[in-house]
Amino acid sequence: MSTLLDGFVFPGVPTRVLFGAGTLAQVGDEVGQLGRARALVLSTPHQSDQAGKLADALGERAVGTFTEAAMHTPVSVTERALDAYRTSGADCVVALGGGSTIGLGKAIATRTGADQIAVPTTYAGSEMTDILGETDAGRKTTRRDASIRPEVVVYDVDLTLGLPSAMTVTSALNAIAHGVEALYAPDANPVTSLLAVDGIGAFRDGLPAVSKEPTDRDARSKVLYGAWLCSLALGYTTMSLHHKLAHVLGGSFGTPHAETHAILLPHTAGFNAAATDRLGAIAEMFGGSVGGGLWDFARSLGAPLRLSDLGLSEDDLDRASAIAVENSYANPRPFDQNDIRALLQAAWEGSRPD
Ligand code: NAD
Repeated sequence: MSTLLDGFVFPGVPTRVLFGAGTLAQVGDEVGQLGRARALVLSTPHQSDQAGKLADALGERAVGTFTEAAMHTPVSVTERALDAYRTSGADCVVALGGGSTIGLGKAIATRTGADQIAVPTTYAGSEMTDILGETDAGRKTTRRDASIRPEVVVYDVDLTLGLPSAMTVTSALNAIAHGVEALYAPDANPVTSLLAVDGIGAFRDGLPAVSKEPTDRDARSKVLYGAWLCSLALGYTTMSLHHKLAHVLGGSFGTPHAETHAILLPHTAGFNAAATDRLGAIAEMFGGSVGGGLWDFARSLGAPLRLSDLGLSEDDLDRASAIAVENSYANPRPFDQNDIRALLQAAWEGSRPD
């Protein structure tokens, strides 16, 4: 990160954000504020009822729903969604759901120029970013472009009250991973760092209470606020080793997205903490040790801790570590294949990092 005297550029936040409880009711007004009149409401099949209710509530401001959003934004699904978008005469999209649905909204927007309103219902944090990961013929490619970033994000804490416990915890750890990597990113600046620290702090303060009482609205709102801040930090920084490893495991071995992030985080953060002072605030927040503290926190929330539980074999770790060092990328701590193999072994066994 540049020091204040080195100077830095903060590009500004172009996304309008509504945060609160019951804010879903304001989506129709937001469509109007954008100068749009015909929204296509997007969701996964699992949330199609919610999408239908939202379309009903939008009345004439909605032209229908498309409820086939899927993990990792398959291009085949996007093509069907584009058909629905064009034949319905829609002029904007409302993506109601987690990162998969928001990814579909981005994929439509970047191809058509549609305005997007994202209504996140998990903590994964795609909504504030200009990043789109898409899969085609089994290959995932990720790109960044201003046309990808949603125009409006509506955070409604009431939509998160029913988020199942396991997904609450794993998508929160996914968001914390964005915050941690934002702190040591090559393009970090004082603003992204304060977003990341406050975001992670909000998760640290809110998650234990949410874990005990999933409908605790105060605690849920804290956690959703943390999701917003970590998503913002992600939207202005470049990710490093942690995301590379999650991408390798998800892309080449099919491990589930949020769980993979949750398991890797204490190990990647602990590994990098040894080489940077930028995680000092995180060490302080989690009892003095970045890796061990995050692992204790994850365990106290009942998060998955072992890659072996995701169907990976020990042999897979050799191949994964080889793929992970094929290309170089920014990371605070230099590493070779043996370092990565050892890190993956610890994450595979679920041992507590130092
Ligand atoms: P998801 O969107 O895949 O959702 C998982 C399942 O949970 C879906 O069936 C969904 O309908 C359901 N669900 C969502 N909210 C719910 C709720 N409140 N109650 C009940 N069920 C609910 O999961 P995710 O973890 O939010 O997103 C993961 C995807 O997002 C990955 O593809 C990842 O690559 C992407 N992502 C992208 C970015 C980015 O900046 N581009 C950032 C983070 C994540």
